[in-house]
Amino acid sequence: MKRLNSTFLTSLVAISASASDVSTSTTYSTVTPTTTLRRPYCKMTQDKDNGTTNGTTDTLAKNIKQANEILKTSNIVCFDVDSTIIQEEGIDELADFCGKGAEVAALTKEAMSGGMTFQEALKKRLDIIKPSQKQIREFIKNHPSTISPNVQELFRQLRANNTEIYLISGGFDCLIEPVATALQIPLSNLFANKLYFHFNGSYAGFDTQQVTSRSGGKGEAIKFIRQKFQQFNNNESAIITMIGDGATDLEASPPADYFIGYGGNVVREEVRHRANYYLTNFNQIQL
Ligand SMILES: [Mg+2]
Repeated sequence: MKRLNSTFLTSLVAISASASDVSTSTTYSTVTPTTTLRRPYCKMTQDKDNGTTNGTTDTLAKNIKQANEILKTSNIVCFDVDSTIIQEEGIDELADFCGKGAEVAALTKEAMSGGMTFQEALKKRLDIIKPSQKQIREFIKNHPSTISPNVQELFRQLRANNTEIYLISGGFDCLIEPVATALQIPLSNLFANKLYFHFNGSYAGFDTQQVTSRSGGKGEAIKFIRQKFQQFNNNESAIITMIGDGATDLEASPPADYFIGYGGNVVREEVRHRANYYLTNFNQIQL
Protein backbone atom coordinates (compact mmCIF):
# COMPACT_ATOMS: atom_id res chain seq x y z
CA MET A 1 0.00 0.00 0.00
CA LYS A 2 1.19 3.49 -0.76
CA ARG A 3 1.29 5.94 2.08
CA LEU A 4 3.11 9.06 3.11
CA ASN A 5 4.90 9.11 6.39
CA SER A 6 5.22 12.35 8.29
CA THR A 7 8.30 11.12 10.21
CA PHE A 8 9.98 10.46 6.88
CA LEU A 9 9.25 14.00 5.72
CA THR A 10 10.41 15.54 8.99
CA SER A 11 13.65 13.60 8.81
CA LEU A 12 14.38 14.86 5.31
CA VAL A 13 13.72 18.44 6.38
CA ALA A 14 16.24 17.98 9.19
CA ILE A 15 18.83 16.58 6.78
CA SER A 16 18.30 19.51 4.44
CA ALA A 17 18.67 21.97 7.30
CA SER A 18 21.95 20.47 8.46
CA ALA A 19 23.35 20.47 4.91
CA SER A 20 22.44 24.14 4.68
CA ASP A 21 24.22 24.85 7.97
CA VAL A 22 27.44 23.37 6.63
CA SER A 23 27.36 25.33 3.40
CA THR A 24 26.79 28.69 5.09
CA SER A 25 29.53 28.33 7.69
CA THR A 26 32.71 30.42 7.99
CA THR A 27 34.01 31.60 4.62
CA TYR A 28 31.12 31.10 2.27
CA SER A 29 27.52 32.10 1.86
CA THR A 30 24.89 30.75 -0.50
CA VAL A 31 22.12 32.46 -2.45
CA THR A 32 18.69 31.77 -1.03
CA PRO A 33 16.38 33.52 -3.48
CA THR A 34 13.17 32.30 -1.91
CA THR A 35 13.97 34.24 1.23
CA THR A 36 15.49 37.29 -0.43
CA LEU A 37 13.02 37.71 -3.30
CA ARG A 38 9.43 38.59 -2.62
CA ARG A 39 7.77 36.25 -5.10
CA PRO A 40 8.73 33.04 -6.83
CA TYR A 41 10.38 34.00 -10.08
CA CYS A 42 9.21 31.57 -12.70
CA LYS A 43 6.65 31.52 -15.46
CA MET A 44 3.85 29.05 -16.03
CA THR A 45 3.00 28.05 -19.58
CA GLN A 46 -0.60 27.68 -20.58
CA ASP A 47 -1.51 24.02 -20.17
CA LYS A 48 -2.29 22.75 -23.64
CA ASP A 49 -2.13 19.64 -25.75
CA ASN A 50 0.40 19.19 -28.52
CA GLY A 51 -2.02 19.33 -31.40
CA THR A 52 -3.18 15.73 -31.06
CA THR A 53 -5.90 14.18 -28.98
CA ASN A 54 -4.33 14.12 -25.53
CA GLY A 55 -1.03 13.79 -27.34
CA THR A 56 -1.61 10.03 -27.50
CA THR A 57 -1.08 9.80 -31.24
CA ASP A 58 2.31 11.49 -31.15
CA THR A 59 4.61 9.21 -33.12
CA LEU A 60 7.64 9.99 -30.95
CA ALA A 61 5.92 8.80 -27.76
CA LYS A 62 6.39 5.18 -26.67
CA ASN A 63 4.16 2.93 -24.55
CA ILE A 64 2.04 5.71 -23.05
CA LYS A 65 -0.50 3.26 -21.61
CA GLN A 66 2.19 1.34 -19.72
CA ALA A 67 3.75 4.61 -18.52
CA ASN A 68 0.36 5.52 -17.03
CA GLU A 69 0.21 2.17 -15.21
CA ILE A 70 3.77 2.64 -13.88
CA LEU A 71 2.95 6.06 -12.50
CA LYS A 72 -0.25 4.78 -10.90
CA THR A 73 1.72 2.21 -8.93
CA SER A 74 4.79 4.33 -8.10
CA ASN A 75 5.26 5.45 -4.49
CA ILE A 76 7.78 8.08 -5.53
CA VAL A 77 8.31 9.90 -8.82
CA CYS A 78 11.57 11.78 -9.33
CA PHE A 79 11.75 14.45 -12.01
CA ASP A 80 14.74 15.96 -13.74
CA VAL A 81 14.45 19.75 -13.94
CA ASP A 82 16.26 21.31 -16.94
CA SER A 83 14.39 20.61 -20.21
CA THR A 84 11.91 18.47 -18.23
CA ILE A 85 10.07 20.38 -15.50
CA ILE A 86 11.24 23.63 -17.05
CA GLN A 87 11.74 24.40 -20.71
CA GLU A 88 15.26 25.81 -20.39
CA GLU A 89 18.76 24.51 -19.55
CA GLY A 90 19.63 26.63 -16.52
CA ILE A 91 23.43 26.62 -16.86
CA ASP A 92 23.31 27.60 -20.55
CA GLU A 93 20.87 30.43 -19.85
CA LEU A 94 23.00 31.65 -16.94
CA ALA A 95 26.14 31.51 -19.12
CA ASP A 96 24.40 33.60 -21.80
CA PHE A 97 23.27 36.10 -19.17
CA CYS A 98 26.85 36.43 -17.89
CA GLY A 99 28.19 36.91 -21.44
CA LYS A 100 29.88 33.49 -21.52
CA GLY A 101 27.38 31.56 -23.64
CA ALA A 102 29.69 30.70 -26.54
CA GLU A 103 32.60 29.62 -24.32
CA VAL A 104 30.37 27.38 -22.21
CA ALA A 105 28.70 25.89 -25.30
CA ALA A 106 32.14 24.96 -26.67
CA LEU A 107 33.11 23.39 -23.36
CA THR A 108 29.83 21.46 -23.17
CA LYS A 109 30.50 20.09 -26.66
CA GLU A 110 34.00 19.02 -25.59
CA ALA A 111 32.62 17.39 -22.43
CA MET A 112 30.03 15.45 -24.43
CA SER A 113 32.71 14.01 -26.70
CA GLY A 114 34.10 12.19 -23.64
CA GLY A 115 37.26 12.17 -21.57
CA MET A 116 35.84 14.42 -18.84
CA THR A 117 33.92 13.47 -15.72
CA PHE A 118 30.65 15.19 -14.91
CA GLN A 119 32.29 17.05 -12.03
CA GLU A 120 35.25 18.21 -14.16
CA ALA A 121 32.86 19.51 -16.80
CA LEU A 122 30.77 21.28 -14.14
CA LYS A 123 33.87 22.87 -12.60
CA LYS A 124 35.22 24.04 -15.97
CA ARG A 125 31.91 25.57 -16.97
CA LEU A 126 31.52 27.36 -13.64
CA ASP A 127 35.13 28.57 -13.79
CA ILE A 128 34.22 30.22 -17.10
CA ILE A 129 30.95 31.75 -15.87
CA LYS A 130 32.06 32.62 -12.33
CA PRO A 131 28.56 33.87 -11.47
CA SER A 132 28.39 36.36 -8.63
CA GLN A 133 25.57 36.40 -6.10
CA LYS A 134 24.30 39.62 -7.68
CA GLN A 135 24.31 38.10 -11.18
CA ILE A 136 22.35 35.09 -9.92
CA ARG A 137 19.72 37.34 -8.35
CA GLU A 138 19.47 39.48 -11.51
CA PHE A 139 19.29 36.36 -13.66
CA ILE A 140 16.43 34.86 -11.64
CA LYS A 141 14.59 38.16 -11.75
CA ASN A 142 15.06 38.84 -15.47
CA HIS A 143 15.11 35.30 -16.88
CA PRO A 144 12.56 33.34 -14.88
CA SER A 145 12.33 29.64 -15.71
CA THR A 146 9.32 28.51 -17.72
CA ILE A 147 7.40 25.56 -16.28
CA SER A 148 6.66 23.00 -19.00
CA PRO A 149 3.02 22.59 -20.08
CA ASN A 150 0.79 20.35 -17.96
CA VAL A 151 3.35 19.85 -15.16
CA GLN A 152 1.02 21.35 -12.56
CA GLU A 153 -1.84 19.08 -13.56
CA LEU A 154 0.41 16.01 -13.48
CA PHE A 155 1.66 16.96 -10.01
CA ARG A 156 -1.95 17.43 -8.87
CA GLN A 157 -2.81 13.92 -10.06
CA LEU A 158 0.27 12.36 -8.45
CA ARG A 159 -0.50 14.02 -5.12
CA ALA A 160 -4.14 12.91 -5.33
CA ASN A 161 -2.76 9.40 -5.78
CA ASN A 162 -0.58 9.77 -2.67
CA THR A 163 2.64 9.71 -4.68
CA GLU A 164 5.58 11.68 -3.40
CA ILE A 165 7.40 13.99 -5.83
CA TYR A 166 11.14 14.76 -5.87
CA LEU A 167 13.23 16.99 -8.12
CA ILE A 168 16.74 15.70 -8.91
CA SER A 169 18.93 18.02 -10.96
CA GLY A 170 22.52 18.50 -12.04
CA GLY A 171 21.69 22.24 -12.04
CA PHE A 172 21.92 24.71 -9.16
CA ASP A 173 19.59 24.87 -6.20
CA CYS A 174 19.52 28.69 -6.23
CA LEU A 175 18.04 28.61 -9.74
CA ILE A 176 15.68 25.70 -9.02
CA GLU A 177 14.29 26.82 -5.67
CA PRO A 178 11.88 29.34 -7.26
CA VAL A 179 10.59 26.51 -9.48
CA ALA A 180 10.20 24.13 -6.52
CA THR A 181 8.40 26.82 -4.55
CA ALA A 182 6.02 27.61 -7.41
CA LEU A 183 5.21 23.90 -7.73
CA GLN A 184 4.88 23.46 -3.95
CA ILE A 185 7.72 20.96 -3.73
CA PRO A 186 9.35 21.13 -0.29
CA LEU A 187 13.05 22.00 -0.57
CA SER A 188 13.80 18.80 1.36
CA ASN A 189 12.60 16.98 -1.79
CA LEU A 190 15.11 18.79 -3.99
CA PHE A 191 18.53 17.36 -4.87
CA ALA A 192 20.70 19.83 -6.79
CA ASN A 193 24.13 21.42 -6.80
CA LYS A 194 24.99 24.19 -4.43
CA LEU A 195 27.06 27.25 -5.36
CA TYR A 196 29.36 28.98 -2.87
CA PHE A 197 30.08 32.69 -2.71
CA HIS A 198 32.64 34.77 -0.87
CA PHE A 199 31.19 37.32 1.50
CA ASN A 200 31.73 40.05 -1.10
CA GLY A 201 29.33 38.07 -3.32
CA SER A 202 31.93 36.78 -5.80
CA TYR A 203 31.87 33.16 -6.96
CA ALA A 204 33.76 30.80 -4.65
CA GLY A 205 33.10 27.34 -6.09
CA PHE A 206 30.49 24.63 -5.62
CA ASP A 207 29.80 21.88 -3.10
CA THR A 208 31.66 18.84 -4.42
CA GLN A 209 30.03 16.68 -1.74
CA GLN A 210 26.57 16.98 -3.30
CA VAL A 211 25.82 13.66 -5.02
CA THR A 212 24.40 15.53 -8.03
CA SER A 213 27.83 17.02 -8.76
CA ARG A 214 29.20 13.58 -9.68
CA SER A 215 28.71 11.09 -12.50
CA GLY A 216 25.93 8.70 -11.47
CA GLY A 217 24.76 11.23 -8.87
CA LYS A 218 21.08 10.99 -9.74
CA GLY A 219 21.20 7.27 -9.02
CA GLU A 220 22.88 7.99 -5.68
CA ALA A 221 20.08 10.41 -4.80
CA ILE A 222 17.50 7.74 -5.63
CA LYS A 223 19.30 5.18 -3.42
CA PHE A 224 19.13 7.69 -0.57
CA ILE A 225 15.42 8.35 -1.16
CA ARG A 226 14.75 4.59 -1.26
CA GLN A 227 16.61 3.96 2.01
CA LYS A 228 14.69 6.70 3.79
CA PHE A 229 11.38 5.39 2.52
CA GLN A 230 12.19 1.89 3.77
CA GLN A 231 13.40 3.21 7.09
CA PHE A 232 10.13 4.98 7.78
CA ASN A 233 7.73 2.48 6.18
CA ASN A 234 8.46 -0.73 8.09
CA ASN A 235 11.04 -1.84 5.54
CA GLU A 236 8.50 -1.64 2.74
CA SER A 237 10.18 -1.33 -0.63
CA ALA A 238 9.26 1.76 -2.66
CA ILE A 239 8.47 1.73 -6.34
CA ILE A 240 10.44 4.66 -7.74
CA THR A 241 10.16 6.12 -11.24
CA MET A 242 12.57 8.64 -12.77
CA ILE A 243 11.36 11.00 -15.51
CA GLY A 244 13.69 13.14 -17.59
CA ASP A 245 15.04 14.12 -20.98
CA GLY A 246 18.71 13.24 -20.58
CA ALA A 247 21.17 10.35 -20.42
CA THR A 248 21.87 10.95 -16.71
CA ASP A 249 18.15 10.46 -16.03
CA LEU A 250 18.05 7.24 -18.02
CA GLU A 251 21.14 5.97 -16.20
CA ALA A 252 19.43 6.50 -12.85
CA SER A 253 17.37 3.38 -13.55
CA PRO A 254 18.45 1.19 -11.89
CA PRO A 255 18.41 2.04 -8.98
CA ALA A 256 15.06 3.62 -9.99
CA ASP A 257 12.61 0.85 -10.86
CA TYR A 258 11.48 2.61 -14.03
CA PHE A 259 12.62 5.35 -16.36
CA ILE A 260 10.17 7.34 -18.46
CA GLY A 261 11.79 9.59 -21.05
CA TYR A 262 10.39 13.05 -21.73
CA GLY A 263 10.83 14.81 -25.06
CA GLY A 264 8.40 17.74 -24.77
CA ASN A 265 11.17 20.32 -24.85
CA VAL A 266 14.03 18.53 -26.58
CA VAL A 267 14.17 15.04 -28.04
CA ARG A 268 17.52 13.36 -27.37
CA GLU A 269 17.44 10.53 -29.85
CA GLU A 270 19.68 8.14 -27.92
CA VAL A 271 17.54 8.54 -24.81
CA ARG A 272 14.33 8.02 -26.77
CA HIS A 273 15.83 4.95 -28.43
CA ARG A 274 16.93 3.37 -25.14
CA ALA A 275 13.82 4.30 -23.13
CA ASN A 276 11.03 1.73 -22.86
CA TYR A 277 8.52 4.50 -22.16
CA TYR A 278 8.58 7.97 -23.68
CA LEU A 279 6.29 10.99 -23.34
CA THR A 280 6.18 14.09 -25.47
CA ASN A 281 3.55 15.90 -23.39
CA PHE A 282 2.70 15.48 -19.71
CA ASN A 283 -1.00 15.42 -20.65
CA GLN A 284 -0.37 11.91 -21.95
CA ILE A 285 -0.60 10.89 -18.30
CA GLN A 286 -4.13 10.66 -16.90
CA LEU A 287 -4.05 8.86 -13.56
MG1 LIG B 1 17.38 17.60 -18.29
